[in-house]
Amino acid sequence: MLNRLVVAALPVIPKSIVGLVSRRYIAGERLTDAVDQIRILNAGGFSCTTDLLGEYITRLDEADANRRQIEAIFSAIEEQRLNSTVSVKLSQMGLLLDKGACYKNVRALVELAHLKGNRLTIDMEDSSTVDATWDIFYRLRAEGFTNIGMVAQAYLHRIQDDMRKFIRQGGGEIRLCKGIYIEPVSISYRNREDVRRNFMQVLEILLDGGAKVGIATHDDVLVEQSAAMILKRKAPASAYEFQMLLGVRESLRDSVRRRGHPLRVYVPYGESWYAYSVRRLRENPQIAGYVFKAMFGRA
Ligand SMILES: Cc1cc2nc3c(=O)[nH]c(=O)nc-3n(C[C@H](O)[C@H](O)[C@H](O)COP(=O)(O)OP(=O)(O)OC[C@H]3O[C@@H](n4cnc5c(N)ncnc54)[C@H](O)[C@@H]3O)c2cc1C
Repeated sequence: MLNRLVVAALPVIPKSIVGLVSRRYIAGERLTDAVDQIRILNAGGFSCTTDLLGEYITRLDEADANRRQIEAIFSAIEEQRLNSTVSVKLSQMGLLLDKGACYKNVRALVELAHLKGNRLTIDMEDSSTVDATWDIFYRLRAEGFTNIGMVAQAYLHRIQDDMRKFIRQGGGEIRLCKGIYIEPVSISYRNREDVRRNFMQVLEILLDGGAKVGIATHDDVLVEQSAAMILKRKAPASAYEFQMLLGVRESLRDSVRRRGHPLRVYVPYGESWYAYSVRRLRENPQIAGYVFKAMFGRA
């Protein structure tokens, strides 16, 4: 209840307070901050994927600027010999403004990643963008690019069909998560158990189909069920990895790693940290309690 009140009061909470809380979930404002964080995580045995914050842009020149910044991420990864891929949201590349321009931007990034021996994962956004995102992915695949990963959201009713199609079309690398957007009940499961059940069914389809799955969750139940499925199938470490967000459930993250599973950490950074933090707080009112504590000097 208190957490929901804090979320409702977000517009009047000072940015500095939100900043205090989000420091844990965001590497910093600059690429060098992300590089420092990745180096620490790599030394601890984690691979990473780097994410430049800033989505749902309103002008195409912002997409160009984002693309250039992401190109710099690939260069930094190469120069500093970091173990990190890059994740991108298509609304950041202009998907909602001009699909052709978005395609060209993403193509440039995938090509650069290919030249540098790296990979690009296309994050999945709200349901209005799902078809267009898959279109761009299949177009790039048809051009021969194999270094692109996609994301499956287990809360979508359509996801099992999408995954069967993905496997039929050659499969590849895919991150499986619950899905973070607030979607209508007509197209999505809202009940926690339904989402978990679908998550596990999708994981089975993907492992059966020979995809490489990024199991992206901090939910103990899903982590345990996924680990059990992997063990039962004797899936090699090349067939899966766990994935978690920077700063979230670090003790779970460490224990998964100690058990010998590969684990990738999603490392967001950038000047748009405030919008990202507010979105996270709205989606996970549990963290809002930290804002309350920060406001009263107990964080
Ligand atoms: C690597 C990665 C990439 C993702 N990419 C996408 C994407 O492209 N598209 C998309 O729609 N969604 C994406 N997500 C988000 C995902 O869909 C879920 O919304 C999110 O992971 C929370 O679900 P959960 O499975 O962790 O379970 P939950 O039941 O939501 O969380 C389990 C527990 O983890 C903790 N927790 C979870 N999230 C947070 C958080 N943000 N801050 C603090 N504590 C938290 C809480 O203690 C919670 O009780 C991604 C998630 C990860 C880990």
